[in-house]
Amino acid sequence: MSHFKGFYKKTYLERLHILQELPNLSEKTQHTLQEKCSLSYETANTIIENFFHVYGIPMGIVPNILIDGNIFHAPLATEEPSVIAAANFGAQLITRSGGFTTISHQRIMIGQIALYHVNNIDNTIHKLMLHKDDLIKDANLAYPSIVKRGGGAKDLRVECKYSLDNTAFLIVYLLVDTQEAMGANILNTMLEAITPKIEKLSHAPALMSILSNYATESLISVSCQIPCALLAKGEHTSGNTVRDHIILAYQLATADVYRATTHNKGIMNGISAVVLATGNDTRAIEAGAHAYASHTGTYFPLTTWSKTENGDLKGSITLPLPIGFVGGSISIHPSAQMAQNLSQTTSAKELSSLIASIGLAQNFSALRALVTDGIQKGHMALQLKSLALTVGAELHEIEPLIQQLKQEKNINQEIAKNYLEKLRQNI
Ligand code: NDP
Repeated sequence: MSHFKGFYKKTYLERLHILQELPNLSEKTQHTLQEKCSLSYETANTIIENFFHVYGIPMGIVPNILIDGNIFHAPLATEEPSVIAAANFGAQLITRSGGFTTISHQRIMIGQIALYHVNNIDNTIHKLMLHKDDLIKDANLAYPSIVKRGGGAKDLRVECKYSLDNTAFLIVYLLVDTQEAMGANILNTMLEAITPKIEKLSHAPALMSILSNYATESLISVSCQIPCALLAKGEHTSGNTVRDHIILAYQLATADVYRATTHNKGIMNGISAVVLATGNDTRAIEAGAHAYASHTGTYFPLTTWSKTENGDLKGSITLPLPIGFVGGSISIHPSAQMAQNLSQTTSAKELSSLIASIGLAQNFSALRALVTDGIQKGHMALQLKSLALTVGAELHEIEPLIQQLKQEKNINQEIAKNYLEKLRQNI
C-alpha cells in the first residue's frame, strides 16, 4: 500500500488513479469514481420530499489504517477543513505503533413499546413476561426475512419508568439482531406488529412503538497503544511530556463538561464524516453517542487515555455504533456504495471498527495538538484557504492570497478582501 505515500501532495487525478488501483473494486465504484456528482436528480427526487437540489459535501480518504491485522481506508465526507488531516495524522501514527484493536463488539438493536394508564404494574409485568416467548415469535413472524438471514428478535424486557410529573409508563423493550442492517425499519415493523397483543395482555393503551437510538447493546470498543518515542514534538517536548499531557487533557474532560463536550465533538468530527460517507444515519449515531457519554449519570469523554506499565500511551474508545452495511440510503446512493467499497470493509462489524478507530485517531490528534502547538497552527493553512474562497478568490488567486495573509497577525474578512483587491490590481 506504499502507493498511498504522499497522497495529500498528489493532484486530484493522481489520487483518483491510486484509488482505482485498489483491489476488489466493483465496476459501479470504478464508474462512480469518475463522476463529478454521483447522485442523479432523478434518484435524489425519489429519496426526499420537495427535492430541488443536490448539496455537495467534499469526500476525502484516510488510507492504510491497520485494524485487527487488516488494512482499511476510511472515506470521510465533511465540510470542515483539517478534519481529514488530523484523522490521517493520528491513524498513520497509530498504524505505525501496531494499529487499532477491536476489544469487544455486539450488534443488537433495541425498540420500545410504551404503555400508559396501566392498572397493576407488577401483575402486568408478570403477565407480559409469561408471554415473552410468544411475543418474540410474533415479532419474528412480522419480519421473517431477517430470521432467515440468521437474525431476528432475541429477547424482551419490561420495565416501569416514571416521568417528571410521576406518570408511570410500562415499557416493553424488544431486542433484535438486525444482522447487516441498521434495522430501524425492521424494528419498527416488528414493534407495531406486536403492539396490539401487548395492549390486550396489559389492558392498557400504547402511546408509541419505535426503535431507540440509545443502542446500548450495539457497543464497540477499540484501543491503541503508542510508544513514547513516537510522541515527541520537536526537540523541546519529549514523548513522555506529550503522553502525560494527553492523559491530563483526558482527565480535564472528565472533570469539566464544557471540555468533555468539545472533546466528544472532535471525536464525532471523524465518526460522523465516515458515517455520512458510507450512507449511514449521522443523527442516529450522534444521538446515541452523546446519550452514551452520559450513561454514568455525568457527561463523560467517549475516549480514555492512560499510561501502560512500559510507559506507552494507551487510548480506547467505546460508543454505540449501530451502523448498517445494507439498507436505508446505502442501497440507493452510489457515493455510499463507492465509499463502502473503497474502505475495503466487508461487513457492518468491520465498518464499525473502522469508524471507531477514526474517532480515536481524531481524538489523539486533537489532544496532541492542544497540549503542544495549540489547535490554530495546524488549522491555519486550511482556514486561510476557506477564508480566501469566502472573500471570492478564484482558484489561481488562493495560494498568493494565503501567502499574503500568513504575514498578518490579525486576520479577518476585510483584511482578506483588501489583499485580494491589491492582488488583482497587482499592487
Ligand atoms: P431497510 O428498511 O432498508 O432494511 C434493511 C434492508 O436490507 C432489508 O430490505 C433487508 O432485506 C436488506 N438486507 C439485505 N441483506 C441483509 C442482511 N445481511 N442483513 C440485514 N438486512 C439485509 O433499513 P433499516 O431497517 O436498516 O433502516 C435504516 C433506515 O431507517 C435508515 O435510512 C434510517 O435513517 C431510517 N430510520 C431511522 C430511524 C431512527 O434512527 N430512529 C427511524 C426510522 C427510520 P429483507 O427485507 O429481504 O430482509
